[in-house]
Amino acid sequence: MKVELIAYTPEPDIIAAVAAKLTHSKSEIDELLNDDKEKLKKLLKIVIRMGHTSVVEHAYFTFAISGVSRSLTHQLVRHRIASYSQQSQRYVEQNMEYVTPPSILKDEELKKKYDRMMKEIWEFYEYMKDRVPVEDARYVLPNAAHTKIIVSMNARSLLNFFELRCCLHAQWEIRKLAWRMLHLVRKVAPIIFEDAGPPCMTKGYCPMNKKDCVWYPERMKKRNGKNL
Ligand SMILES: Cc1cc2nc3c(=O)[nH]c(=O)nc-3n(C[C@H](O)[C@H](O)[C@H](O)COP(=O)(O)OP(=O)(O)OC[C@H]3O[C@@H](n4cnc5c(N)ncnc54)[C@H](O)[C@@H]3O)c2cc1C
Repeated sequence: MKVELIAYTPEPDIIAAVAAKLTHSKSEIDELLNDDKEKLKKLLKIVIRMGHTSVVEHAYFTFAISGVSRSLTHQLVRHRIASYSQQSQRYVEQNMEYVTPPSILKDEELKKKYDRMMKEIWEFYEYMKDRVPVEDARYVLPNAAHTKIIVSMNARSLLNFFELRCCLHAQWEIRKLAWRMLHLVRKVAPIIFEDAGPPCMTKGYCPMNKKDCVWYPERMKKRNGKNL
């Protein structure tokens, strides 16, 4: 999996803070933009903790994602508050590239069978391509097939995405992607994403009440003597 943050709103924390300050200020916007940055960041922290997260919608982030499965992107595009451009299987002929889940990787015999099956699928895909349009040949390709996608999301949508997909209950591949994206945006917008992540870690409770989860706050408390 390759995940890169290829573009983002300059100074995302400051833009969001200025937007927040503007709502309660008589000052000109230029003055607000030149306000003390540390004060602006403090204000933003307060506003976010109050739940007034519409101000972080002004901050946009664009990711280039490749080496992930179609299975992952099928879940990813369910997040509607975002923009997507994905490599087309209609127009682009697909090489034999696919994701192998860790559960298969650790079972040597199963991995061999899995690889054999993938080879067979791609051989049939090649056979089909000579007989029908590529857009029809692709019907035989597996969920595991590699894909590339560019995704843009504003920070508010990302906070929702991280809450849902950084959770241990989320599927492993999209969870891996979500954590990689979170690490990238935290570097450029540390205030906005300071408290981002699954609710067990950021809010100290599990909305799904999954008591058997190893990250369940009560279990964590027992293990570490403190909440996360
Ligand atoms: C662990 C897990 C398991 C899942 N399992 C399934 C499954 O089995 N089957 C399945 O179909 N999906 C499943 N999903 C997908 C899930 O139902 C959501 O479609 C997906 O997570 C996108 O979330 P979202 O709607 O909050 O995001 P977005 O689409 O980005 O929306 C963000 C927010 O905007 C608001 N919003 C967006 N559109 C509307 C609208 N039309 N009306 C009102 N408010 C809106 C909502 O507040 C929403 O939370 C699963 C998700 C997770 C995390």
